[in-house]
Amino acid sequence: MKANEEIHIIGAGLAGLSAAVQLVEAGKCVRIYEATSSAGGRCRSFYDGRLERIIDNGNHLILSGNKSVMRYLELLGAENELKGPELAEFPFIDLADNSSWTVRPGSRAIPWSIFNSKWRIPGISIKNYYSIWRLSQATPSDTVGACFDTDGVIWHRFWRPIIVSVLNTDPAYASANLLWKTLKETFGLGEVACRPLLAVRSLSQALVDPALSYLSGKSCKLDFNKRVRKIISEDQRVKGIETTDLVEIGERDAVILSVPPYSAAQLAPNLIVPNTFQTIVNGHFRIEGRSPEANFIGVVGGMAEWLFVRGDVVSVTISAANELSKISEVEIADKMWADISSVFGLGSSNRGPSRVIKEKRATFEQTPEQVARRPSARAEFTNMFLAGDWTDTGIPATIEGAVRSGIIAANSALEYMEN
Ligand SMILES: Cc1cc2nc3c(=O)[nH]c(=O)nc-3n(C[C@H](O)[C@H](O)[C@H](O)COP(=O)(O)OP(=O)(O)OC[C@H]3O[C@@H](n4cnc5c(N)ncnc54)[C@H](O)[C@@H]3O)c2cc1C
Repeated sequence: MKANEEIHIIGAGLAGLSAAVQLVEAGKCVRIYEATSSAGGRCRSFYDGRLERIIDNGNHLILSGNKSVMRYLELLGAENELKGPELAEFPFIDLADNSSWTVRPGSRAIPWSIFNSKWRIPGISIKNYYSIWRLSQATPSDTVGACFDTDGVIWHRFWRPIIVSVLNTDPAYASANLLWKTLKETFGLGEVACRPLLAVRSLSQALVDPALSYLSGKSCKLDFNKRVRKIISEDQRVKGIETTDLVEIGERDAVILSVPPYSAAQLAPNLIVPNTFQTIVNGHFRIEGRSPEANFIGVVGGMAEWLFVRGDVVSVTISAANELSKISEVEIADKMWADISSVFGLGSSNRGPSRVIKEKRATFEQTPEQVARRPSARAEFTNMFLAGDWTDTGIPATIEGAVRSGIIAANSALEYMEN
């Protein structure tokens, strides 16, 4: 490596951390600038004084087929921080009639053993799985709504809950192509690739802290509370970045911009980026008395979409929630509690303190129009590369997308530096 050759990473979310890990692995010197006082970005945990527990900003579900995440954790020695059932299974309950069922994808690729009547969702027939074939034929401008019969039982009892949480977008407008690409890598490979995994202790302890420990002993400097305010360029090259001071970018240095799209557009105004967003609302409830035994369960016919249980905290997730986020937190908490108490048979004496978190720009809105605005890792400057769940990874804006984007940007930077 040439003297003083450095890669400057702006943003310490999972995309930035994944790029840093990849580059340090390749023997490079890395410097990270993070605007806030902690790493993790949209995937973080904190101690909540009201619940007196560590909670996540939002529940995050990862599938065992998310291969970039799995490799990242393996490299960091943190595989055991995610846990799920031995076999892929997705339990559901319908609050309208209290029916419950468990979808078990089985060992084969789509259409799996749900063809077996034993595992079939109540009320559906095999012909409903025809939608998957239509999805596989989708073009970039097709919506999920155009591929599915959105009136049927299977829609409400399986596809809608899965799709809205994967794409964080009303399925009627969501990109069919994006959904198909992620289904192929997960459910499409059978149960080995679609075991649902959750952070055992917290998101930060699973995905963020291990990266910080890994990087701290290596050629990496991480500056917190260092918001990058300006990128200074000349002749299609970044030559400086302005934080509280001016950092000069050397002749052979590279920059990775791994901030959310709205921040990227401020720093590089010529960039075309996704520019509409969807909220995810989460509610965390401490349960007094007996805690539910489940790990997670999909809810149909209520306001909650998924319930997650960690110790004595039950958390509720609702995606594509721009409208819901306009309602007061107290009202949202009461409605969420109504669903929790129905699902787990809990009474008012079990209701402990709670916290509602509205993540207003949880992801970009994953419609065909917005997907078309995703830029590739190579930006307008020869020595700058883009990372983030919103860049064109080909898969949805998820942890897998963020980690993968970091690897793509890191490899592009390495290629640039080698030439
Ligand atoms: C509530 C919620 C639930 C979710 N559920 C799931 C799920 O179940 N499964 C799943 O796979 N994904 C889920 N996601 C999506 C997942 O969290 C994101 O895809 C991922 O965390 C994005 O990582 P990122 O690094 O691309 O961006 P970010 O996490 O946004 O990181 C960007 C970083 O850049 C920093 N930054 C911004 N501007 C500047 C600047 N000017 N200078 C320096 N630093 C700057 C920010 O502070 C931040 O740390 C969820 C997201 C939310 C919010």
